Amino acid sequence: MNRELIKYLCSILALLLVVIPAQSQTSDFNLPDLGDESHQVMSPLEQKQLGEGFYRQARVYMDLVNDPTLKEYLDNLGNRLIESLGLPKDSFTFFLVNDNTVNAFAVPGGYIGVHTGLLLTAANEAEVASVLGHEIAHVTQQHIPRMLSAQKQNMLPNLATLLAGILLGGQATEAAIAITSARSIENQLTFTRSFEREADRIGITVLANSGYDTNSMADFFLRMQQANTLYETNAPQFLLTHPITTDRIAEAKARAANYPHTAKNDNTQFTLMHAKLSVNNLTAKNATAQFRKKTLGSNATLADRYGLALALMKGGDYDAARNETALLIEKAPDQVLFKILQAQIESAQGNKKKSLELFRNIYESDKSSLSAITYYAEELAQQSDYSEARKVLRKAVRKFPKSIQFYEMLSQAESKTGSQMESHRALAEAYALIGNYKSAVQQLNIARSLAKKDDFYVQASITAKIKELKAREELEKQK
Ligand SMILES: [Zn+2]
Repeated sequence: MNRELIKYLCSILALLLVVIPAQSQTSDFNLPDLGDESHQVMSPLEQKQLGEGFYRQARVYMDLVNDPTLKEYLDNLGNRLIESLGLPKDSFTFFLVNDNTVNAFAVPGGYIGVHTGLLLTAANEAEVASVLGHEIAHVTQQHIPRMLSAQKQNMLPNLATLLAGILLGGQATEAAIAITSARSIENQLTFTRSFEREADRIGITVLANSGYDTNSMADFFLRMQQANTLYETNAPQFLLTHPITTDRIAEAKARAANYPHTAKNDNTQFTLMHAKLSVNNLTAKNATAQFRKKTLGSNATLADRYGLALALMKGGDYDAARNETALLIEKAPDQVLFKILQAQIESAQGNKKKSLELFRNIYESDKSSLSAITYYAEELAQQSDYSEARKVLRKAVRKFPKSIQFYEMLSQAESKTGSQMESHRALAEAYALIGNYKSAVQQLNIARSLAKKDDFYVQASITAKIKELKAREELEKQK
């Protein structure tokens, strides 16, 4: 399956608007009474399966952003929003797609994708939050199952084929695409208008509950409308699935007026992430020129200076980058993004002792930070200190039990330190997290064969895990 195909699938899934982790059904939030109807068409298990299948393919075929600071930023923002609805932390998976079109989409199982273009177009964090709140609402309100219940005849064959296509990959997917004709997409779009309204309404509640300015939704709609006029042929993808009308903007404004004007949200992290994405998007030369220009004026912000430092490092001008970063740290000694950059510059220049020390300090000051763990563990691995990396990662997987990446890194560290058995167990966890139970069980079988015969505790716990995964696999087969 190629990348265009995956993109196409994404756009269809975005159209299908989306869906539900099982946990989301219990919430103090005012969910409408959905009755059993919504589950007849798509059980929570099927939704989870579809989401996992989609995410598994997305990790391979989509250009996902791996930068730990950007990932952590999106995670924190997403968690802040879902927790404001009384939903458990990490019950959704947010991921950033390297794509400069303005779009966000929610897929079954609570997977929410955000294009880098959306972050680059938004003027502040609250505007990003307004889109995420909208997407989260599609999930909590179970829009897909409800849509299917109401439109069974038209949609079901398409969706079933699509589901199979995504889960199986390969040719089935192409069949799915052939079947999902443009005409049926159009019908689906019309059908979802009322859900769009509901998602907007709840999206604003999410903004208010999590302390963001409720006017941001209307602001962002307007911004997209303007962007649309600017780039006629390259309209924000979000507009395709979320047509913005004057009515819609007026409604968003009217709803916002019902909430007291909230204190302005701290936008520091957003502006820094925005600068980082801008640098990622440009050549080192252009980025340096652009940010140097910005820092010349008297109103240069920390983000402008951070952008310049990143650009200089990108261009290999380490001494200048080091100087800029030192200035940043002087101005904002607590900003961890600056300390990370400082360590990265030393690492890029091969100053091993110094970079390791800096990354260790960052980790020691916040052992629960995803980016601090990732950078430190990566640096350790790069410097072949696998035994320390293993220690860090064993703790990390307890802290982030859903992190596929940490299990993969742990698997490598275990292997490098000679614990083949533990290496296979870690890999099994990574496979299980993406719903590939067959490979997970294979890994566990290898692990069990490597475990000491008289280590009853390990033998028993591997056996129990195999049993659990097989049961899950069986359950999903019966859907
Ligand atoms: Zn929507």
